[in-house]
Formats: sequence, structure tokens, C-alpha cells
Amino acid sequence: MDQHSARQTLIDNKTLFISCVVPVYNEAANIETFVKALHATIAQASSQFELILIDDGSKDDTLRHIIELTHALNNIKLISLSRNFGKEVALTAGIDHAIGDVIILIDADFQHPLDIIPTFISEWVSGYDMVYAVRKDREAESFMKRKASQLFYFLMNKFSQLEIQDGAGDFRLMDKKLVQALKTFPERTRFMKGLYAFIGFQTKAIPYEVQKRSSGKSRFGFSKLTELALNGITSFSDIPLRIWSLIGFFISFISLIYAIYIIAETLIVGNDLPGYPTLIVAIMFLGGIQLLSIGILGEYIARIFTEVKNRPLYLIKMKKGFD
Ligand code: UDP
Ligand code: MG
Repeated sequence: MDQHSARQTLIDNKTLFISCVVPVYNEAANIETFVKALHATIAQASSQFELILIDDGSKDDTLRHIIELTHALNNIKLISLSRNFGKEVALTAGIDHAIGDVIILIDADFQHPLDIIPTFISEWVSGYDMVYAVRKDREAESFMKRKASQLFYFLMNKFSQLEIQDGAGDFRLMDKKLVQALKTFPERTRFMKGLYAFIGFQTKAIPYEVQKRSSGKSRFGFSKLTELALNGITSFSDIPLRIWSLIGFFISFISLIYAIYIIAETLIVGNDLPGYPTLIVAIMFLGGIQLLSIGILGEYIARIFTEVKNRPLYLIKMKKGFD
């Protein structure tokens, strides 16, 4: 039996094992309605599934709500992390525990429309190993945020060998074999978008419109996004590290020519100015460049530091529903 008919059979018999991985942080207000809606959507597609909710150290009532849900509905599993580790790590924790044939990653705030999940599944049946949603527009975001993310994707695609699509988030379906591949990445600084692009396989993009957050507000403010962008660039590109030798060489070359010019000038017309301004400008300029390059080295060394410490990615406080 070829892959297509094997996948089709699973769908026809409703025996495709679907794992949904949902990172949850302080979503008490809408977690219950969300999980119920997701449960209904997935139950329609298959009789075999698990919804893995990762409580990322929520400070509100989220955990209690999820525990109640594990009693109220079947196939709900809970992983509660010991503190807030961030969305990327929460996703990793969920992926580590997922056992499905396909794994769907989705946010808990209703921003990812549930009604494209059937499309995800049908694209998977037709042969794609990863189907991901791409937001149609960023109208809802502020001008600054839009420009900043444009700049990020521009730099990312120029500097790394990967093609990372603007607007593609974590909302996606992945085949088991892809998830196996993801699990073999031990790195601690996890930039999921980079990892998705790195593993390759047959992928398909589905455009969608981002919904308004049903309650609360985004946890990804400017500083968090900047951190994410820096992680992305430094985890997947070494150009910022290498470009400084080029710039350094260029600057030294220019200085050399300038020095020759000054010497010639002094010899020919003499020099009655002490040359104070030139000196100061040169010192400031080179000092600035040096600080910048040290900063860039620091970025990478910080990355090496976190990897070398080899700490566990996350710690689990409580699990429910896994046997
Ligand atoms: N989230 C998480 N840990 C965090 C921040 C967010 O698990 O530290 C979850 C959050 O509950 C939601 C998803 O990640 O399900 C996306 O978060 P958010 O809506 O704040 O981000 P945005 O939609 O702005 O990207
Ligand atoms: Mg959101």
C-alpha cells in the first residue's frame, strides 16, 4: 500500500491518531471554552486523539481549569511545568510527550482558527508531511511591529541558509517522522521557526486570517520579540560573527590610505595643526566598532554557554492523563 492510500485508510476508519499540543500561559478566562471547541473539532476528525495541554507555569487559575477539564472530557492530558519556561520550550515539552501519527500545534487564545484543521489533515493525506498556516496580513499589528518583523525576516533569509517564511507561526500539523527528527535536536536555545525550516520534508502553506485574541493580551511584547529575533539569527547564522573581520580589514585599509595621505601632506605643505580632531574621531570610531564586535562575540558566547551547561530544557511539576 502506498503512502497516500495508507493515510486515506486511517481517515476513512477514523483511526488516525491525532495529538494536539497546546501551550498555555495565564489563559484562565478562555481555556475551558477553547479546549471544548478544540475537542469537538478533533473528535469529528478521528476517534483516536490526545489533547496535550502544557501549563507553562501559569500564575492564574489556568492549572485548576485544566485539571477540571481532564475530569470532564476524555483524552485530555496535562503537563504542568515547574515555572514559566516560554512558549518555545512549552511546545518542546508537548512534542516530547506526543505519540500521535500527526501532531498539531495550536495556541490557546483562539487566534488560530480551528476550522482550518480539517484542511491540515486533508493536505497531510495528499502527501505533505508538514502543513502550516501563514497569516494573510499583519494589519492588526502596530506599524512598528510590522516593520520590525519585516526587517527580521529580511536579515534572517539573507544571513542564514534557510528560507523562513514571514507570517508562518507555530500553528501547524506535522507528521510523526518529522517530530522524530525534531526530537533529535538537543539545543537549548530553541528557535522553532528555524528548526521547522531546517528539517525540510514536504511542506505546504495554508493562508489564514489571524483572529483577535479572545481575552487577555499578547505576551510577546517588543523586548520578547527582540529576544526571539536575536535567538533566531544567532542560532541559525554565523555571518554576524564573521562579517567583522571583513569590516575590520576594510577600515584598516582606509586608515592606511589616510595615513599615507597625511604623511604626504605633511612632507609637501607642512602641518601647523596638531591634528587633534582627526585623532579623536579615529579613536571614537574604532572604539565603537570594537565594542560592537565584542558585543556580537558575546551573543554567540552566551549561546555556547547555555548549550554547554547542558541543563534540562524544562522541569515538570505535574503530569495527568499519561500512563
Ligand atoms: N504562551 C506560553 N508561554 C509563554 C507565553 C505564551 O505557553 O510564556 C502561550 C499562550 O498561552 C498562547 C500562545 O503561547 O497559547 C501564544 O501566546 P500569545 O498569544 O501571548 O502570543 P502571540 O499570539 O502574540 O504570538
Ligand atoms: Mg496569541
